[in-house]
Amino acid sequence: MSLNIGLFLILCLTALALTNGERVRFDNYRVYEVNASNREKLALLKQMEDTSDSLLFLDGVHKINRTVKVVVPPHKVSDFLLVLDVNDIDYNLVEKDLQTALEKDYNQIATRATTDQWSAYQTLDFHYSWLRSLASSYPGNVTLIEGGKSYEKRSILGVKISLHNGKKQKPGIFLEAGIHAREWIAPATATYVIDALLTSTDEQVRELAETYEWYIIPHANPDGYVYTHTTNRMWRKTRQPYGSCYGADPNRNWNVSWNTVGASSNPCSETFAGSAANSEIEVKSLSRYVDSLKSVVKLYISFHSFSQYLLYPNGDTPELPDNVKDYEQVYNVTLKAISKRYDTVYTGGNIYDAIYPAAGSSVDYAYSKTGIRMAFCFELRPNGSFNGNGMELPADQIRPTAEEILDGLVAMVNEVKVLGYFD
Ligand SMILES: [Zn+2]
Repeated sequence: MSLNIGLFLILCLTALALTNGERVRFDNYRVYEVNASNREKLALLKQMEDTSDSLLFLDGVHKINRTVKVVVPPHKVSDFLLVLDVNDIDYNLVEKDLQTALEKDYNQIATRATTDQWSAYQTLDFHYSWLRSLASSYPGNVTLIEGGKSYEKRSILGVKISLHNGKKQKPGIFLEAGIHAREWIAPATATYVIDALLTSTDEQVRELAETYEWYIIPHANPDGYVYTHTTNRMWRKTRQPYGSCYGADPNRNWNVSWNTVGASSNPCSETFAGSAANSEIEVKSLSRYVDSLKSVVKLYISFHSFSQYLLYPNGDTPELPDNVKDYEQVYNVTLKAISKRYDTVYTGGNIYDAIYPAAGSSVDYAYSKTGIRMAFCFELRPNGSFNGNGMELPADQIRPTAEEILDGLVAMVNEVKVLGYFD
């Protein structure tokens, strides 16, 4: 199919979704896991990712022997499998009707107030009302912050938690989630952390809350999050139009080694780096906000999903941070703490080697451009061998995910403290 016809179809789909107010359907779309075992096979997958108008690669194709998930429309299945067979590329069907999985997911969005807000996935409006209510309920201790603006003119709303306990300037910790729209577990976990800092009676969590200033942005990409609820569950990027395609990958758009590696110049790609560094207003305004806090913030954390990884810089180069020994130490104690409650296994390391090269990420920006010496990225549940598209984490796993991550944060912050980064 020519690119133009492909673009026309995308336009039609978009128009249909907008005029009917309906969600994009994925009836009989399949999800495959594919694995390139050598350089040639990897190049072929990369070419498919770069040129296809209809295959949706849920992971970037960057590493030999790393499984990637691909959404394949029904009319492309036979062509797709033929290419894989002819080239002896391993694959595995993990979902035979994506629509069924997505419908289950949409049913997990809370439609009314629940007694436990972490028993379902919440809307952006709910989270924003909740953040505002916290500022009213904890005057002086919780302040609304605006990390920036979105293309559709939403606020990138968050909270600063700074509890009065006689201390003046306290070291800052920045937590950003939801920069990838479809990774619903990330904002759910970030809001859980906010709640725990304010209400937990656990001694270690109280210490975290009282010793540091927390800057928490649950939705770094609010337009995209809303779009995953209203129109397309699989949306990852921002919503700024680029010709007939929409959005850039906001975690490839930060002004650090922009578009050098692990990103795409094709506006239709899932990892489109944008037209320039900071071309996305979300990234431009959020990075300015992070800049303004660089003398306060000592630890930067970003929540994503999926794969159960803990990652640290760099993503743009295999070169390790000069304080990599400290990173390894923090990484080890954090992984141990995460596994304590539910035996959940995380792995990871430096972004470039542990997952794939990725330039222009928030964590690299924090580390390389602001002087924040400790910057981590969590890829939350499920793990990579999860049989499905990776986004469909049952809502009853929100709490366990968030609980084990809070355990991890307690250990992480304490170790960062021991190493002297908060002095
Ligand atoms: Zn992500």
